[in-house]
Amino acid sequence: FGAQGEYAGLAAIKAYLNSKGESHRTVCLIPKSAHGTNPASAQMAGMKVQVVEVDKDGNIDVSHLKAMVDKHKANLAAIMITYPSTNGVFEENVREVCELIHQNGGQVYLDGANMNAQVGLCRPGDYGSDVSHLNLHKTFCIPHGGGGPGMGPIGVKLHLAPFLPSHPVVNMQSSNAGSSLGTISAAPWGSSAILPISWAYIKMMGSKGLVHATEVAILNANYMAKRLENHYKILFRGSKGFVAHEFILDVRPFKKSANIEAVDVAKRLQDYGFHAPTMSWPVAGTLMIEPTESEDKAELDRFCDSLLAIRQEIADIEEGRMDSRVNPLKMAPHSLACITSTTWNRPYSREYAAFPVPFVRPETKFWPTISRIDDIYGDQHLVCTCPPMDVYESPYEERASS
Ligand SMILES: *Cc1c(COP(=O)(O)O)cnc(C)c1O
Repeated sequence: FGAQGEYAGLAAIKAYLNSKGESHRTVCLIPKSAHGTNPASAQMAGMKVQVVEVDKDGNIDVSHLKAMVDKHKANLAAIMITYPSTNGVFEENVREVCELIHQNGGQVYLDGANMNAQVGLCRPGDYGSDVSHLNLHKTFCIPHGGGGPGMGPIGVKLHLAPFLPSHPVVNMQSSNAGSSLGTISAAPWGSSAILPISWAYIKMMGSKGLVHATEVAILNANYMAKRLENHYKILFRGSKGFVAHEFILDVRPFKKSANIEAVDVAKRLQDYGFHAPTMSWPVAGTLMIEPTESEDKAELDRFCDSLLAIRQEIADIEEGRMDSRVNPLKMAPHSLACITSTTWNRPYSREYAAFPVPFVRPETKFWPTISRIDDIYGDQHLVCTCPPMDVYESPYEERASS
């Protein structure tokens, strides 16, 4: 996965710097908007993390970056940047940022998690990346999680190539033999069982298809942002008003106006048949929407229609037509058990709870299996079921079916 690529890439940077007699270069600059794997990987690669601030538009705060480069220039090893940023914007000063790092003896790690907004359109190496990874489970179709041992393929500029990882069972090219950073994973080429999925995807899409996928991913995000912008605040946009392949809906103001938080919107979306988008990342209390190229326009419209209907439900609370504690959002999601219970004493109908819009119909509805749980309690209390040994006395088939 990406994190493994980050580690491999930073280790290659470190080996390269060491080979130049610059082993004192250990500081890694990372913007505040970065994914948590970035600082974790930098730590594992033996670097010291220096956080760089982000400005009000969601971009790297260049004046803070300059100050941090100046402070650490003698020991600067690298910067880790994400492009387009996790805030869903193509940062216009990306070249300037990379140049500044290079001028001060550092290397640029460009986190490739958002390659879905770049494949076929632009190349990280052109604007200054020395090494980037590809998240195959994001941009190249391998399953998320449960896919077995992940792998983090990386691309490096020529000067870093001699330092790439080696493996005892692989014959290294003679040029790498002495300089390689060593072995970083047990399997020399990662998980061979899932790599063919990415290969087949690329082969079947072809160069034109891959460009098209990137364009549609960006188009879809902008289409949705446009449909939602008069009803929700889109937190960050580029200078021309566009987003990249994802965008952040700022639902934080509803806390004050209607006692509604991101989790309430996320849970209510289940009643409309949708899995919630990313919650509270990269900005706490917001929703980050990344439609990708995979869904058709009708599905994007259903999702937008659901968010617009939910916005109306929030307005009902704001304007006093609905109770601020017992309402379809706070009580969401509504399971079948909840809807069919003998008593119903809520200020909205069962029908409205379960079938709020015409496209959510009994024949096609995805029912949430359970109603609201206390997420925070669950996160803070480890619940061990610790079944006694006699549970295992019955034959496996019986246990599996019960
Ligand atoms: C997902 C993500 C990562 C981590 O990738 P994994 O493949 O989950 O290890 C790193 N950076 C960004 C910006 C991401 O979105």
